[in-house]
Amino acid sequence: MQTEIFKNIDTEGLNRCGQMLREGKVVAFPTETVYGLGASALCDEAVATVFAVKSRPCDNPLIAHICDEGMLPIVAKEVSPVAKRLFSLYWPGPLTVILPKTDTISPLVTAGGNTVAVRCPLHPVARELIRAAGVPVVAPSANLSGKPSPTDFETTLEDLSGLVPAIIDGGKCSVGVESTVVLPQDDNLLRILRPGAITPEMLSDAGFTVELDPNILSPLDHSKPVLSPGMKHRHYAPKAPLTIVKGEKQAVLDFLRQKQQQGAGILCFEGEMEGDFVRCYGQEDDADSQSQNLFAALRQFDHLPVNEIYARQPNPMGVGLAVYNRLLRAAEFNIMEVKQ
Ligand code: AMP
Ligand code: MG
Repeated sequence: MQTEIFKNIDTEGLNRCGQMLREGKVVAFPTETVYGLGASALCDEAVATVFAVKSRPCDNPLIAHICDEGMLPIVAKEVSPVAKRLFSLYWPGPLTVILPKTDTISPLVTAGGNTVAVRCPLHPVARELIRAAGVPVVAPSANLSGKPSPTDFETTLEDLSGLVPAIIDGGKCSVGVESTVVLPQDDNLLRILRPGAITPEMLSDAGFTVELDPNILSPLDHSKPVLSPGMKHRHYAPKAPLTIVKGEKQAVLDFLRQKQQQGAGILCFEGEMEGDFVRCYGQEDDADSQSQNLFAALRQFDHLPVNEIYARQPNPMGVGLAVYNRLLRAAEFNIMEVKQ
């Protein structure tokens, strides 16, 4: 399949891509979190194509993206006061809210469940594209399943060239990790199913009672029901096995240098180490820069001749929790501690 590339997209291009979506085709496009692979949430065939192109397990439901709250009744019913407050505080933006679903959307979107994940993105191209399509748009990360999510046009092209009819170039994503997913519960209680740039600290400061799903920091307990099906699957992983190294900073850096000499790939913070197989994912004390750079850094190891990768542990505060969660999943929860 020939993939049409849209650079510096204008209204005419957005209208063409919007029409493709409305007609059941898939289009990859930028959002402020990561690039998404878009399809009409109302069209079974289009949603099935998204699962097929990504090789995504069909029990992992998708997020329906809307251009404004006016589109909400198409996908969700019974919007609670807590959900309304979340929209007014964080939409448009990197927050996904789980709501009771309508019967209008394809059952494939929700993997047969009776709730739907909904988000109104901030990125102007994403919003204008959904507006032009005139339908809610599912948009899982535009990577082949299991790989780190694409945070720039080039990576999206690397995974999807020849597999989709159109890709829109919107440069680098400003956030770099996927949206925060929350399940509003009774009263003011929110359960965070996936951490992102809308942090637990921000939600608590806004007066919500926040509960972290245990699967954010621990492997799945298969004896318990899974609230966030995405947690069941291997994700974000480079080809070589990854180990997170924790401990006192100097001890960790000494250990990483030893591993570097043995030919391992090293993932650390800016300015800490240098070498052919060393990649950095932001500044030690700046979680925003870590979230912007993590996935691109993980991807680079797939182009290096390394058989194992060792990574510095991020501080799990603020958006650092999302960074740590993605790194844990990429490492399949493989962590080691070193001592001086
Ligand atoms: P992705 O589109 O790849 O960013 O993944 C979407 C995430 O939202 C996955 O972790 C899904 O498990 C989660 N998700 C989507 N729909 C629901 C839902 N109805 N209930 C709970 N989690 C959901
Ligand atoms: Mg994904």
